[in-house]
Amino acid sequence: MDIIKLEKYLSEKGEKSYRLKQIKKAVFCDLISDWEGATALPKELRGILEKEFPLFGMFAEKVLESKNGDSVKAVFRLGDGNFIETVLMKHLQGRNTVCLSSQAGCAMKCGFCATGKQGLKRNLTAEEIVDQVLFFARYLSTSDVDNIVFMGMGEPFLNYDNVLSSIRILNDKDGFNLGIRHISISTCGIIPGIEKFAGENLQCNLAISLHSADDETRSKLMPINKTYPLADLMKAVDEYIKKTNRKVMFEYLLIDGVNDSKEDALKLAKLMKNSLYHVNLIKYHDTGLARNASNLACEAGRADFKPSPQTKRTQFFDMLKKLGVSVTFRVSFGEDISAACGQLAGKVVR
Ligand code: SF4
Repeated sequence: MDIIKLEKYLSEKGEKSYRLKQIKKAVFCDLISDWEGATALPKELRGILEKEFPLFGMFAEKVLESKNGDSVKAVFRLGDGNFIETVLMKHLQGRNTVCLSSQAGCAMKCGFCATGKQGLKRNLTAEEIVDQVLFFARYLSTSDVDNIVFMGMGEPFLNYDNVLSSIRILNDKDGFNLGIRHISISTCGIIPGIEKFAGENLQCNLAISLHSADDETRSKLMPINKTYPLADLMKAVDEYIKKTNRKVMFEYLLIDGVNDSKEDALKLAKLMKNSLYHVNLIKYHDTGLARNASNLACEAGRADFKPSPQTKRTQFFDMLKKLGVSVTFRVSFGEDISAACGQLAGKVVR
């Protein structure tokens, strides 16, 4: 359902302004699954809405739960037959985070990412992004989605307007009312997106997929680095911090023999010079797709990527700490259902 189009429709029809509030409450708070459930509305209006503004534009083809119960992955079939994946992460403290896709596929071709292998199919609409959140709100039987992160399929800043519209819809006080500080966007380093985002005056969180602190390795892992190299990227991040005074997260997957040496930790520590930078170390997850001789794993000098062993991960973490870097290890969710970082591929059967 396109809430912006619906708002326009109601005003053109001369409906009272409280109708929109009733509709938002029904959709985003009561989580109705059809318009008949919006009992505060007159029957005639419900009939029109059912016809003109169907609630669902996509269907969950498959829902997979991880063995330990901490994560759930939904594979959605979109109206045009494309697939996307969305992940619910249930934290020990009882918080629920939904990891959203912003595009079907992705054009960025990061060598460690299953989505990147597919190429871009298309941008998602704002409604398709919002629907992913509502699906999991219904799945939880409450609107208790505490956080959303744009870290699923796609590069959010290459679908900028729809991502921002979805954020405004989810943040709407009359609707889903998700706190703006509970929303995070992760980018592979699209500088024009970072610059535009800095001017939005939104209190969302920004994360940068970094994965290497030297241009040579980063360009092999993430081809976007050839367009936006590290020096320019860090300048854009600093400008963002100057304008917003907000912390920026740097995501760093630890890949055995690629970016996990002592020298790599030293380079990273040197780059992390701003007190508002924070590093999230992440265990690399097997995508099952990195064994093709033509893939970027080979460009990085390896036939395949493997996670860094636990001892190396600990050493890397300790070294960063010792060098004064603000750093944490991000807990991995849903590896057994191919729902972890880098594993989303938009496939019904994995
Ligand atoms: S990591 Fe993100 S930006 Fe890179 S290919 Fe995967 S989805 Fe695209």
